[in-house]
Amino acid sequence: MSDTAVDRLRDIRARIRAAEGDADRPAGSVELVAVSKTFDAHEIRPVLEAGQRIFGENRVQEAAGKWPELRAEFAGVELHLIGPLQSNKTAEAVALFDVIETVDRDKIAREIAKEMARQNRRPRLYVQVDIGEEAQKAGIPLREAAAFVARCREEHGLAIEGLMCIPPVGEHPGPYFALLGKIAGEAGVEKLSMGMSGDFERAIPFGATSVRVGSAIFGSRG
Ligand SMILES: *Cc1c(COP(=O)(O)O)cnc(C)c1O
Repeated sequence: MSDTAVDRLRDIRARIRAAEGDADRPAGSVELVAVSKTFDAHEIRPVLEAGQRIFGENRVQEAAGKWPELRAEFAGVELHLIGPLQSNKTAEAVALFDVIETVDRDKIAREIAKEMARQNRRPRLYVQVDIGEEAQKAGIPLREAAAFVARCREEHGLAIEGLMCIPPVGEHPGPYFALLGKIAGEAGVEKLSMGMSGDFERAIPFGATSVRVGSAIFGSRG
């Protein structure tokens, strides 16, 4: 393995391109979301200098502490919220993030809609699906996902662009990636956020349009 985050970023980009080719998908059809949670601004900066612009964070507070400064230094940053959203953090999340990938219940959908109107700011939205139906996991249960997307659109007035999932740990992710694609078809959404450091290459043949890669770029989070 290469030794700096920038070397590893280049390696991940090459592996994404190779997986796109193997899946007969166009080069550039899969976006890389570099997951910078737990890493400080000084560790993220070289990755920005190397041209990466899409980043994922899982905590609103942590992101608010480091991204305003980095955004002032680098134009064109696109920040994704990939962690669970509490309703008391919704205003801050709508103000800070460009994409919220973790819409997973009506209460949050309602709060997001209210804040978008109040702030006149429209982050793009994904619904997180609890694909393994693990009770402790975030996400709308699999069986309710398509109906929830419809409610987001019809009752909450939200444009849902994609679905996001985290397959259960220790299982083959392929069937779960396939299932997310199937639900996206039923729900009529285009984008699929799936695949992380350990399995992003396997998500690409199943139609991932973005992969969320953290430790394989930034190193282990300790
Ligand atoms: C932390 C995290 C990732 C990145 O995980 P790695 O295994 O470090 O690539 C991706 N998605 C979500 C939702 C995460 O919380």
